[in-house]
Amino acid sequence: MTSSTLAQQLREAKHVVVFTGAGASAESGIPTFRDALTGLWEHFDPAKLATSDAYRGDPALCWGWYEWRRQKVVRAQPNEAHRAIAEFAKRVPKLTLVTQNVDDLHERAGSQDVIHLHGSLHSPRCIDCGQAYTLPLTSDALPEDGSRIEPPQCSACGGYVRPGVVWFGEMLPEDAWSSGLAAAEKCDVFISIGTSGIVYPAAELPLRALGHGATVVHINPERFNISSREHFLQGQASVLMRGLLTEAFGDPLVTECFVE
Ligand code: NAD
Ligand code: ZN
Repeated sequence: MTSSTLAQQLREAKHVVVFTGAGASAESGIPTFRDALTGLWEHFDPAKLATSDAYRGDPALCWGWYEWRRQKVVRAQPNEAHRAIAEFAKRVPKLTLVTQNVDDLHERAGSQDVIHLHGSLHSPRCIDCGQAYTLPLTSDALPEDGSRIEPPQCSACGGYVRPGVVWFGEMLPEDAWSSGLAAAEKCDVFISIGTSGIVYPAAELPLRALGHGATVVHINPERFNISSREHFLQGQASVLMRGLLTEAFGDPLVTECFVE
């Protein structure tokens, strides 16, 4: 499929699902799990840090890793891909944005009602009783390049505070998963951006969309195997999404000039 065929389908679509993974935030400087992590963290496997066992075994190591990631997000800005997705939502009758990302860059680009399948770095809670914990948005104490940090403790029960993300081996938030699934099964066009498609059950969504007759397109700079009924646009999320927006709906800046 060419980008102009997809642009045409986007113009005609009644319901579009955009499904994002870590690659959508890569151009904002947030490392993906498949990129080599920098500094101290390059010696660790994310799949081994992002589990409940890892946290209980070494809370300061895990909390330090999450604080390092949160600090990167706090200092990052949304990129053209985040912004183009927010623009698309204004131009199609219905757009559902489902993300595996635990950052808030979609929201900061103007997207509303983002479905976070894997929770958020910004909503920590007690590992024992679940009480929410408020973290300062920024802190000079945050590590520049990764270090062990003792997690805060819950004011209700004294348990450790854990990040509000979904760890490997945990269930997805039920509401998020059922809304994501319902959207995948109803949409005409499903665009999957910057995900390696190996983390389940999230990776099921494109297949569900395909099974219900949607056009499914993967956007990624690195090619991977897909079925013959799916489509692939190879390139960076920012370039391809901005290009698609312009091809489907014209240059937003030019349109605004005409309106004036
Ligand atoms: P992943 O790290 O497994 O894969 C990232 C994908 O993005 C790769 O296929 C890579 O080729 C692609 N990519 C890299 N640069 C890109 C670009 N400029 N444009 C488009 N694609 C690009 O990430 P995943 O599939 O999302 O799954 C792993 C888990 O990682 C998820 O559960 C997610 O919660 C977590 N994660 C989230 C963040 C974040 O919130 N920003 C960051 C790292 C990991
Ligand atoms: Zn508690």
